[in-house]
Formats: sequence, structure tokens, C-alpha cells
Amino acid sequence: MIRISQLAMSVKPSATLAAGAKARQLKAAGVKVFDFSLGEPDFNTPKHICAAAEKAALGGHTHYTPTSGTAEVKAAICRWYKTFHGLECAPENVIVSNGAKHSIHNALAATVGTGDEVIIPTPYWVSYSDLVSMTGATPVLVGTTLESGFKLTPAQLKAAITPRTRVLMLNSPCNPTGTVYTRAELEALVDTLVNNSDAAILSDEIYEQLTFGNLKPTCVATLRAGLKDRTITISGASKSYAMTGWRMGWAIAPAPLVKAMDTIQSQETSCPCSVSQAALIAALDGPQDCVHEMRQQFAARKELTCKLLQAMPGVKLPVPDGAFYAFFDVSAHFGKTFGGKQVKDSLSFCDALLEQAHVNLVAGAAFGAEGFVRMSFATGNETIQGGLARLGDWLTSGKQ
Ligand code: PMP
Ligand code: GLU
Repeated sequence: MIRISQLAMSVKPSATLAAGAKARQLKAAGVKVFDFSLGEPDFNTPKHICAAAEKAALGGHTHYTPTSGTAEVKAAICRWYKTFHGLECAPENVIVSNGAKHSIHNALAATVGTGDEVIIPTPYWVSYSDLVSMTGATPVLVGTTLESGFKLTPAQLKAAITPRTRVLMLNSPCNPTGTVYTRAELEALVDTLVNNSDAAILSDEIYEQLTFGNLKPTCVATLRAGLKDRTITISGASKSYAMTGWRMGWAIAPAPLVKAMDTIQSQETSCPCSVSQAALIAALDGPQDCVHEMRQQFAARKELTCKLLQAMPGVKLPVPDGAFYAFFDVSAHFGKTFGGKQVKDSLSFCDALLEQAHVNLVAGAAFGAEGFVRMSFATGNETIQGGLARLGDWLTSGKQ
């Protein structure tokens, strides 16, 4: 037997990917599943982006690239930040990786280790705490509530800071809650951090192009003069450009940190995919109406999802302001029996729902928020209508 390492044994599998795999298995067995588990746009990547990749592949761009990405892709990222957020950055501030998850891993691996603390407001995206733990650092989870709009307050942040605090992780728009912090709220958090520690901010802005109504996303690094010197901005193409499979994520950070991440990446993966980098340039530099169209469809799906969920008994749903998730409280149903099975928490709720009604949600426990479940509405209206009709019927079948 080959021995499995402590590291491998201590990491939990990604709950979102595991939920997606469960649905895939059922579908392969011929079951019609209403799958709302994975946060991934159902749209195909826009054609002009695919065409750029094809051209690159046929044109011989099939070799290793520089470790942190080609000069062309970094220039495109710098242009995009200048136009979209007014953030000035130079190529030495940019590193492209194989998805934003990889960027976060590299950023943490280059900044924290055993004995360090990383503050993570909950609910948080499933992978944050494991990505921190994998470095040996300690995730410090700070709970926010539905009542406070799932927003970390400066007082909570101040109370969580210790001499060991090295990084604060922020994620606005947030997966799983859809919370979007205002500029003023982020300023207050950033000021609290800066006045009480020398910690860095890791700001995951991957849903920045997916805000609803008149809400504007905020690039944390632009909040205060000099803040970009202690901010690691993370983003990627997966969500805005429907490019999950291309694995394009990036970090914008001070040059010495980018250099450290580059060294780690050189030993991990050599470089990001050459063809995907060409596709990313087309995404960032090309026409942006595809982003606008997808955002409008997500907004319409959000309206439909909220209308249907809010009409259900024992469901408390805060209206999401961004991203493509509904994160709702179903704890009123805990303790009931569904189809002979007692539901006692978010995990047993999701298991019974999938088994009995073939509706796939992700348990809130995976996001550090027991009592809640997450539904991704990055899927067609018919699926939303069909799946939520089933969920509604199933909820009324519960017996006290
Ligand atoms: N951050 C957040 C908040 C996410 O929801 C995701 C989900 N994919 C990622 C990062 C990572 O995205 P990717 O690795 O596909 O770029
Ligand atoms: N981020 C998405 C989600 O939360 C994709 C899956 C993953 O990488 O976790 O579902």
C-alpha cells in the first residue's frame, strides 16, 4: 500500500465539485436531475473567443509560455483594469494562472504558513478554508448573518485581528450569498485593517462583471492611495466570459509578491495554457456585449428564482445583488421527515432532496453556514421552473 500524506488526508474535497459529480452520476444512470449545484454559466464561450484560440493553436502557439503568462496577455489585463476600474498596473504586477482557484492557492502559498492567521468572513466560497489550511496557516472564520446582509462589520474585523493576522480575504460580489459591499463599506473595512495590522488583503473579485441593477462592483485596490501595495486582486474569465473549462485566472499584486508566486508556479505547472491565454486576450480586448447579454439573462433568472423561492414555506431568502447564487435559510424544515428520512441539517436536507426529488443544491455547511442551502441559477429558465416546482412540492411533503 502506498501511504497517503497528512496533507492529502487533511484536505476536504471541494463540496461544489462533489455535488456536481453526484448529479453527473445520476444523469448517467438515466435520471432527470435538476442540477443547481455548480457555479458555472450554462452559456458556451462566445464565438470570437473560441476563434482566437483556434487561430492561436493553428498558428503554432502551442508551446510553453513565460511562467506568469505572455507579455500580450499581461498587457491585455493591464488595459482592462485601467478601463474597467481605473487601476494602473504594470506587467510585473500580473500573474496568470490555471484558474482563479490556482491564483488564490499561489497567493496564499507565497504569503502565509504555519503560525499565521487568515481572516475569512462566513459564509465563504467552499475552497477558501482548505486553500488556507493547505499552507499550514489557520483560517479564522468570522460569522456574518442574513440580518446584517452577510456583511462583515469593522467591529467584527477589529475583534478578529491578532498579531498573527497576515491576510484578510474578501469576496464581493460574494459566492455563495450574492452580497455586494458598497464602496463606503469596503473603505471602512480596509481602514480598520490598515489601522490595526500590517496584514494584506486578498480580494477575490471574480464576479465583478456580474452585479444587478445599478450596483457597481468595487476594485478594493483602488479604494485608498497606496492600497495596491498591500492588496492581492484575484479575478478570472470563468464567470464573466463563460470560460470555466479554459482555466484562466490571474492575480494583480506588488511586483515582489508576483515574483514569489511566479517561482512557485514555475515548479507547479510551468505556465498557464498557451491557447487559453490567446482566448483570454480576445475576451478582454474584444466586444463586451456578450458579457452584457449574459448579465441580463442572469438578472432575469435571478428575478424568477427569487419570486419562486420567496413563495415557498419555511424559506428565508435575501435577494442577491451579484454573482448567480440564491443562498437561503431552510432550517425551518429541520427535524421533519421526508419520504421516511429525517432531515436534521443542511447536508441531510440536500441528500434527501436529491435522492427523492432529484433536485441538486449544495449544503450551507460547506460554506460555513449551517441552516442554509445554495442554488446556482446559472442555468436555463425551464430548469429553474421545473426544479423549483419540485422543491416546492417536496417541502410541503415534510412531516413534523
Ligand atoms: N473564487 C470564487 C468566489 C469562485 O466562486 C470561484 C469558482 N469557480 C473561483 C474563485 C475559482 O474560479 P476558477 O478557478 O474557475 O477561475
Ligand atoms: N466556483 C464554482 C462553485 O462554487 C465552481 C466549482 C468550484 O470550483 O468550486 O460552484
